[in-house]
Amino acid sequence: LLERVLDELKNALPHFEVRREQYEMMKNVSDAMNYGLKSAVHAPTGTGKSFGYLIPFLAMKLVKQDYRITISTYTINLQQQLIKDLQLINQIYSKIKPLEKPLTYTILKGRSNYFCRKRFLENQDDLPVSFSEKVNDKLVSLKSLNQALDRQNMGFKMTSSQWELLTVESCKKTDCPFFADCSYFHDYFESESDVVITNHALYFNRELFVKDAWSDFSFHIFDESHKLEKVVLDTSTFDLSINKIEGWAKQGISVGYKHGFESAKINAWSSKYLFKHPTVMKFKAGLQAIDKRLESNDSSLAKLRFNERTIHTMIQELYDWQREMFHEFHETVPSDEKKENELYKEDRNNWGIGFGELHEFKSIFELEEEKRVPWVERNDFGDILLKVTPTSIIHLPPLFKNGVLFTSGTLAQNDSNKEFAARLNVELDIDNVLSTPFSLAEQTIVYASKNVNPRNADYEEQLEKEITELLLNGDLKTFVLFTSTQLMERMYNKLKNTLILHAKEQGFVLKVWLQERNNHIEIMNSFRNKNDKSVLFGTLSYFEGIDLQGESLTQIILTRLPFSVPTHPVQEILDRNQQYSKWEALIRFEQAFGRLIRTRSDYGSFNILDSRIYENQNTDFLQLFKKDSIEITDEHDKIKEFHKKRN
Ligand code: SF4
Repeated sequence: LLERVLDELKNALPHFEVRREQYEMMKNVSDAMNYGLKSAVHAPTGTGKSFGYLIPFLAMKLVKQDYRITISTYTINLQQQLIKDLQLINQIYSKIKPLEKPLTYTILKGRSNYFCRKRFLENQDDLPVSFSEKVNDKLVSLKSLNQALDRQNMGFKMTSSQWELLTVESCKKTDCPFFADCSYFHDYFESESDVVITNHALYFNRELFVKDAWSDFSFHIFDESHKLEKVVLDTSTFDLSINKIEGWAKQGISVGYKHGFESAKINAWSSKYLFKHPTVMKFKAGLQAIDKRLESNDSSLAKLRFNERTIHTMIQELYDWQREMFHEFHETVPSDEKKENELYKEDRNNWGIGFGELHEFKSIFELEEEKRVPWVERNDFGDILLKVTPTSIIHLPPLFKNGVLFTSGTLAQNDSNKEFAARLNVELDIDNVLSTPFSLAEQTIVYASKNVNPRNADYEEQLEKEITELLLNGDLKTFVLFTSTQLMERMYNKLKNTLILHAKEQGFVLKVWLQERNNHIEIMNSFRNKNDKSVLFGTLSYFEGIDLQGESLTQIILTRLPFSVPTHPVQEILDRNQQYSKWEALIRFEQAFGRLIRTRSDYGSFNILDSRIYENQNTDFLQLFKKDSIEITDEHDKIKEFHKKRN
C-alpha cells in the first residue's frame, strides 16, 4: 500500500522525489502504525519528515476507514505547514478513493482562541454598536464558509480587552442555545476528524486532566519532540493562590444564587468558609509571609526553602476545608427536588472540577521529597503562587499508551533515541537515527576557535576581536548568536559602527540588525533580499525555526556553547539531571547549525567562539561534525578560502 501511495504521489507531483532517508522513515512509521508500536525517528533537516509520517497514515487510512491520528507540534509554523501537506495528502486520497469523502482535520487551539456566542450576547452592551455589527457580519460569513469561529478567522483588528469579552470563559453547553454550531464545543469535545493537529501543551493538558481524552485515536505523532519533556513538566506543575482558593468559594456562591438558595443561608455558608475559616486565614497568612520574603529578596521569582511539614499540614487542611465546604453546600439546597435537578447537578459538578487541581497538587506534593520540588512565583498580577513540580516524568502515571512516533531533527544522543525515550518513561520498539540527506562535508566547514574562553578575564575582548575578523571576511550574510541578551547588546553596540564603516569602504551597504530592536519580518526580508548585505545579533529564538535557504544565510557565529543558565525553577529541575542539561545544550547547538544548510545547494561556515569545545567533557559537540566528515579548523584563513571558492 505504501508503494501504491508513493506512485500516486509521483503522479500528482512529478518533481516529488522520495529520499532514501525519508523512505526509511516511512517504513518505520508504517510498522509502528500497523502494530501499535512505540517509535522514535531522529530525522535531520531535509529528510521531509512530515511526509515521512503523513504518507504511512494515508496508507493506513486506505485499509482502515476509522483510523484516526493526533499530531502534536511545538510551533504554530509547523502546524500551518502541516495543513498545506494535508491538502496534498487529500488530493492523493481522492484520486485513489474518488467515491469517499475527503479526509478531515481539525486544529485544536487553546480555549482562549475560540469565539463564544453566548458571551458575545451577554457582553454586547459593553461593546460599541459598530463593533458588534462587524462581529455579527463576520459570524454570518464564517458560517456560510463553514469555517471555525476563532480569533484567527475573525480577520479584523481588536484589542485584547475586546477579545476578552468574546472568548470562551467557561462552557456550560447544556444551557447554551448556540452549542449546535459552536466551534469550541465541536473542536474540543465532538471532533470526529481523521487528524487532530494540536500543540504539546494542549495535548498533555487534556491527557492529564480529561478522562480518556485521546482514547478514540489509534496513533499519536509528536513532531518537534525534543521539546516534550519541558512541556510535560510545565503542564504537570500545579499551583495554589489566595485568589484561587477564594475563587472556589465564590463560585459556590454564584451557583447558590443561580439555583434560588436563600440569601441568609448563602451568607452563613460563605462567611463560614470564605471569610472567617481558620484554614483560609492560615493559608493567607502563610502566603503573605512568603510575599514579604520575596519583596526583601527584591525578586519576582524565588525558590524558597520550605518547612515541609508546615506546607504538608496546610495542604491537608485545605483539602479537608474544600470537602467540608462542598458537602455542606449540598445540605443548604432548598429542596430534595432541587438536589435531583439536572442543571443544578451539572453546575455543582462543574464547580467541583476546579477542586481537582487541589487534589493533583496534594498527590504530587505527597511524592517522596526527591521526586518533587515546591517553589513560589509572583505572577503578572502580583499574586503569590505556591507551586509544585515533579522532578521527572517517570514519577507521573504513564503518558504514552497507544502506538506513538516521536520525531525531530534533533533527538538522538550517542546514535540512539533511547535516552530521550527513557526520560519520557517509554521503552522504544523502533529506534532509528537517520543520516543527513545532504553532502555536509562539501557544503560546510567548521571553525572552532582556540582563543576565546568564557572562563578567561579577557573573554569579551577576545570575542570582539574574533567576531570582527569573521564579519570582515566579506559580504557574507551572518547570524551572530548569543546565549545572553546583555552580552549580545554590548557586542552590538561596540561593533555596529565599525562594521558599517568597513562595508562602506568596501563599496557596499551593510545592515546590522539587533533582535531586541528590530522587527522579525523586516530582518527576515533583509536576509532573503539578494541586494541586502545583513548581519543579525540574536539570541536563542534564532537558534531554531528559521528557514533561510541558499545565499540568504552563509555564516553562523556561535559565541558560546549553549548550556542553559537556569532562570526558571522548571528549567532548574531539568538541569539537575546532568544528562538532560548536556543533551539540551547539544540539541540547541545542533539546532543552531541546522539553520545553515537547508537544501542540497546551500553552503556556509559554522564558527564556534568557545574553546571549551576542545575539553574532554565536551567532545560530543565536535563529534556532531566528525560523524559527517565535516572539516573542522582553528584557522581563519581556511574559512576565508572556503567562502572565496564558493563565490
Ligand atoms: S457551547 Fe460553550 S463555548 Fe460554545 S457558545 Fe455555548 S457557552 Fe460558548
